[in-house]
Amino acid sequence: MTATPEIVTPVRPEELQIQGNAMRITIGVFVVVPLLAVVAAIPVAWGSWLSWTDIALLVLFYAVTAAGITIGYHRYFTHGSFKAGRGVKILLALAGSMALEGSIRQWVADHRKHHKYSDEVGDPHSPWRFGTSKRAVAKGLYFAHVGWLFDEEQTAIEKYAPDIKADKDLEAISRWFPAIVAASLLLPALLGGLITWSWVGALTAFFWAGLFRIAIVHHVTWSINSVCHVFGTRPFDSRDFSTNVWWLAIPSLGESWHNLHHAEPTAARHGVLKGQVDLSAVAIRAMERAGLAKDVRWPKPERLVKKLEDPTMAHRIRGYRAPSATSA
Ligand SMILES: [Zn+2]
Ligand SMILES: [Zn+2]
Repeated sequence: MTATPEIVTPVRPEELQIQGNAMRITIGVFVVVPLLAVVAAIPVAWGSWLSWTDIALLVLFYAVTAAGITIGYHRYFTHGSFKAGRGVKILLALAGSMALEGSIRQWVADHRKHHKYSDEVGDPHSPWRFGTSKRAVAKGLYFAHVGWLFDEEQTAIEKYAPDIKADKDLEAISRWFPAIVAASLLLPALLGGLITWSWVGALTAFFWAGLFRIAIVHHVTWSINSVCHVFGTRPFDSRDFSTNVWWLAIPSLGESWHNLHHAEPTAARHGVLKGQVDLSAVAIRAMERAGLAKDVRWPKPERLVKKLEDPTMAHRIRGYRAPSATSA
C-alpha cells in the first residue's frame, strides 16, 4: 500500500447515512461472510467436530486474550487508564500477546499515532484515507480493517512508545513473542486433549479455541478501526469520525463505545451512557476492588456533559446529577 493519503474533508453525519449501503456490502464481504461460513458449519460439526468442551475453551481463551487487548494493550499500556503492580502488568502483557496482534510496543505506537492524527493525514488506519465518495470509503474500510497491517510505513516506536520500549519486562515478553504465539495455539489443544482424553478432542479444541478464536478476536479488534469510524452514533464531540456501535459492545468487551473513547481517551470506562455494557470496565472495577488496579481514571460525569453534542442527553450519562435549581 503506497497510496498517498489525502486530507479528509469533514462530512456531516447525514451524508454518512447516504453512503451506508456500499459500506455495508463491503463490511459484509470482508468481515461477516467468512465468519458466517464457519458459523454455518457448526450444525454439521456438532457432535463429532464440535463439543461443549470446545465451546468452553473457546469462551475462556476468547475472554483472556480479548481482555489482554482491551484492558492490557489498550486501556493500560496505551492510555494509562489505571496503575498496576509488576505481576498484573506481566499478566496483561502475556494475555494481550496471546491475541496475536503483534508486540505491545508496535501496537501501542500504532494506536497512539491513531489518536494523535485520528482520521487525518498520519492516521495509520483511517477508513477516510482515500476520500468520502462511496468507492473511496469502501476502499478505506478495507484498508482500516486489514489493509493497513501490510503498509510498508511502520510507526516509529522510539517516538510513540518509548516508555514501553524502556520496560525490561515488556522487552523480554516481546523477545518471547513466538513462544507465546505457540502457547496461544497449543494450550487449547493440550487442554482439549486432556479433558476428552482423545486426539480428536485435541484437534477440535485447536481449531475452535485456537484458530477460530484468534480469527474472531482479530476481526472484532479490527472492526473498532473500520466499523467504529464509519457506522453508528456520535453523541460526543471527538473532532474525528469515531462512532459508538452497540452491536459490537459485547464481543469487543466495551471497546465499540469508540466515539466516547476518542472524546475521553484516558477514561477507564468507554460505555458511559446508561445501558451501555462495558465488560472491560466491569473487570477493571473488580481489579480495583481486589487491590490489583490503582488510580483508576473513571470518567467524570460533569466533564462528559460538556462534550455532549446534544446537551439534553445529559440525563443519559451514568452517575450524572443535574444541578439542583436554586431559588432566587
Ligand atoms: Zn479510533
Ligand atoms: Zn485508544
